[in-house]
Formats: sequence, structure tokens, C-alpha cells
Amino acid sequence: MNGLCIGCGLCRSMAGTGEIDMVMTPEGRERPVAKRPLDRPTLMRINAVCPGTRIAGPPPAQLREARLADPVWGPVERLVLGRAADSTVRFIGSGGGTLTALGQLLLNSGRVKFVLHVAASRAEPMRTERRLSFDAASVLEGAGSRYGPAATLVDFNDIIDRGEPFALIAKPCDITAVRNLARLDPRVDRYMRYALAFVCGGASDLTKSEQVLQRFGLREDELALFRYRGHGNPGPNRIETMDGRAFEIGYRQLWEDEDKWMIQPRCKICPDAIGQVADIAVSDAWLNGGPAVEDEPLNGIIVRTKRGLELFDAAVEAGVLQIKRETDIAEIRELQSHQVRKRRAVWARLKGIQIAGKPVPFVSDLALRACASQNSLAENLAEGRGARDRARRGRLGEPPVRPRKTLVKDGRS
Ligand SMILES: Cc1cc2nc3c(=O)[nH]c(=O)nc-3n(C[C@H](O)[C@H](O)[C@H](O)COP(=O)(O)OP(=O)(O)OC[C@H]3O[C@@H](n4cnc5c(N)ncnc54)[C@H](O)[C@@H]3O)c2cc1C
Ligand code: SF4
Ligand code: SF4
Repeated sequence: MNGLCIGCGLCRSMAGTGEIDMVMTPEGRERPVAKRPLDRPTLMRINAVCPGTRIAGPPPAQLREARLADPVWGPVERLVLGRAADSTVRFIGSGGGTLTALGQLLLNSGRVKFVLHVAASRAEPMRTERRLSFDAASVLEGAGSRYGPAATLVDFNDIIDRGEPFALIAKPCDITAVRNLARLDPRVDRYMRYALAFVCGGASDLTKSEQVLQRFGLREDELALFRYRGHGNPGPNRIETMDGRAFEIGYRQLWEDEDKWMIQPRCKICPDAIGQVADIAVSDAWLNGGPAVEDEPLNGIIVRTKRGLELFDAAVEAGVLQIKRETDIAEIRELQSHQVRKRRAVWARLKGIQIAGKPVPFVSDLALRACASQNSLAENLAEGRGARDRARRGRLGEPPVRPRKTLVKDGRS
């Protein structure tokens, strides 16, 4: 996949039982490996849905009819700063618990039968697994950001086969994948009633988490808990061992050195990390993209579709969400300045990668050229040349997929 895979797992689900395994690579990425060559029709279907090869934005009609439409921020029906009304949800939630509160409302109101999202693995708490939540308590268990690999769609076809209404809470690229599938399989739109995303700065490799363990001299098989954040806004990265020890580092300590973020290659050229394809996209609301220390529980809430607006209004009406105040594109631009920089950079980065002779995804309806035109020529040239050179050096690609030799539990491969 040349660095375009994000490990969503949808191809595994589409290939049918036992044809593809998701493996953990030495780099700490979950990647698909076919056990035997796939037949051509299956390969073609996978290529049509994979969010590494095809990234479509919202339908043009949605953009035309939206209350607000911005080249960088896409379609917007409502833009507020808000949070979960329930104090437990907003404390445990990643920022202000908005996504968890919405998931709980969807279940409690009977709008959906279950919520597809992710949660920490119970057996291996540093790993992340897809979760089907049928009640509010289970949605809460999945609250918080899981920065490492998360194959949300690993059995998505089985989920559609259930024939029951559900909601998806996931990364924007997961939603891109599912929207791609909806063009082939009408059951997706029939059963997936809501798609809620968080605004996403990128998924880190598992090796990033393993470095945290190394800092404390811990092995993965000792862990009872590995929480990236939540229990505050942002809350600490907290680790607990089965023998009762606890370790914490702050959010700023975890992410202070950008060279050590270990973000997956696909994220560096992500054309829609702001969830234009979601019904509602939820972000942090920290000035300049980072928390002061521990901030008040709060989210940016970008309602994108009419369906999302109806849900948002119902959540406010039911007292599930609290609005702090209305906001606007200018403020969101300030709060998410790194996302603005990325949206403006992606067009030139993709050109640079193409010039280096490497494959790029097919991107449509995401106004990449319009975003790039907000940069100066010099900025675009710098982005394009930088991406070209990194692609030539292999830094935007990935080595051929191979599983780690042993099941790594101690942070060393
Ligand atoms: C990898 C990553 C990068 C992020 N980058 C940014 C950023 O650049 N800017 C920004 O404003 N916010 C970013 N966030 C989002 C932010 O951390 C909050 O998740 C978001 O603001 C929603 O907050 P909340 O309190 O409503 O979430 P919660 O109520 O805690 O709900 C979070 C939901 O997201 C699901 N989830 C968590 N991790 C994953 C995952 N890896 N894959 C699929 N689903 C997942 C959980 O299952 C849960 O249902 C990022 C989150 C992640 C996981
Ligand atoms: S991005 Fe998803 S669908 Fe595409 S190859 Fe990777 S795991 Fe498979
Ligand atoms: S940055 Fe884009 S590709 Fe990377 S995890 Fe987030 S949504 Fe997916």
C-alpha cells in the first residue's frame, strides 16, 4: 500500500472469513496481509472502498445547501463550543465527552440498536479494539482518545449483515471508508443512521506507546490500564500495572517533541482530517491547538449535515449536551491552526509525491486546490518539494508488510 494504508480493517472484512489477517508490523502499525492471492473482483471492490486509495468529500449538493461553507472547513450547519451535560461523561471523555454523550443518547432514545466505536482491549490495555456498544455504560467505557492503531472496521460486513440500525463513532478516515462502501452496498445507508467523527491530528504507531512504557521500565504484559487521555481535559496519560503501581505523564510531555509523534504516513497527507464526511465532527477547543494545563471540559462541535443538526438539537433539548456558546469559522481556525495548515498543504504534498513517482490517493470534492490557493507560491513550492524529497527517501512510504516475529508485549520487537 506504499504508506497509504491506515489500518482500518475494512479490506479484511470485505475479503471474507480468513482471507486477510490484520498483523502488527515491527513499526507498530496494524496492516492487512492476504493469506493467499485475492481474486480480481474482490481486489477491485477493496480498491474502490479503501480510504488509502479513494478519499471523497461530502456530496457537492450538501456543500451548496449548507448554512455555511468554507473552503478549508467544508459544510457547516452549526458551530458551537459545548460539552456533555453529565459531569461523569464530561470528566471521563477525551475533551468534553460530547461524542460519548451523543452515542448514549442514540441508544437511550432507541434511534439505534448499537454504536460501533473502539475501546481499550481488556486483555491488552495498550491495544485498541473495535467495540459494539448496546448500552450507555459500554459507550462510556470506550470514551477517551486512543492514539495508537485502531482497526475500527475489521468486521464491518458482519455488522451490516446484522440488519440493525447503528451509529459509527470513529476517525474521519474510517468514515471515508464506510462512505466509499455505501456507494457499492446500499445496506450501509439503510443501517448506518449516524456517522460521528473527531477532528484528527493523526494516529500514532504503537511504538509511540511502547516508548512511554520504556520510560518507566515497564513491559506490556504487566499492564492493567493504558489510558492516553480523558479523566480531565486532556487528563494525563495514565498507566496502571496488575500489581497496583501507577504512572502518569502529562499531555504536553507525551506530545512535546513533534519528531517523536510517530504519526502514520497516511496521516501526513490526510485531505479530510476534519471530518467533512461525518454528520457531526467534534474537536478539542484549546487555544493554539494545545491545552494550557488542565482546561475546562469543552469541545468544538461542527454539525455538518441536516441529520446531524436534528440529532444535535435533540441532544440539547434532552439536556444531554450543554452549549457554552456559539462560535464561528474564524475561531475554529484559531483553535485548530494545525488542521488549517494541513488542509492548505495537502494539495502540494500530493503533487510532490506524484513527482517522486509514488502513488497518491484519488481525492474528490475536498477543495484541495482552493485550500492550497490560500498559501503563497513559495509555501506551496516548499510543501511540494519537501514531500517529493521525503517520498524519494521513502519517508512517506512503508516497508513491505510483515508481522512482528513474536507477539510483542514488552515494548521490544
Ligand atoms: C488519533 C487521534 C488524533 C486526534 N487529533 C485531534 C486533533 O488534531 N484536533 C482535535 O481537536 N482533536 C483531536 N483528537 C480528538 C480529541 O482527542 C477528542 O477525541 C475529540 O475532541 C472528541 O472528544 P470527546 O470528549 O467528545 O470524546 P469522547 O466522548 O471521549 O469520545 C471519543 C470517541 O472516539 C472513539 N475513538 C477514540 N479513539 C479512536 C480511534 N483511534 N479510532 C476510532 N475511534 C476512536 C472512542 O471510541 C469514543 O467513542 C484526536 C483523537 C485521536 C484518537
Ligand atoms: S486502509 Fe483499510 S481498507 Fe485500505 S488496505 Fe489499509 S486496512 Fe485495508
Ligand atoms: S489523520 Fe486522517 S488518515 Fe490519519 S488517522 Fe486521522 S483521519 Fe485517519
